[in-house]
Amino acid sequence: MNSSKRVAHAVGGKTARVCDSCIKKRARWYCAADDAFLCQACDSAVHSANQLAHRHKRVLLKTASSLKPSNKDDRAVQ
Ligand SMILES: [Zn+2]
Ligand SMILES: [Zn+2]
Repeated sequence: MNSSKRVAHAVGGKTARVCDSCIKKRARWYCAADDAFLCQACDSAVHSANQLAHRHKRVLLKTASSLKPSNKDDRAVQ
């Protein structure tokens, strides 16, 4: 119905979104070039793979982790 809201939802990160690559960890990055949500590890792996991918512009997802103490994974990264 409202497509702009979907994008805002994805980037704004109201909900935890799982990584499209490993489908285990929660996504921290959204890559518009790949149209993929990636966790920290997969983002590093995918985007260090070659120079072209390295230039992809990624958006750091604002997850609830910054608001709630319930998140336990990936805290060390920031
Ligand atoms: Zn992953
Ligand atoms: Zn990418």
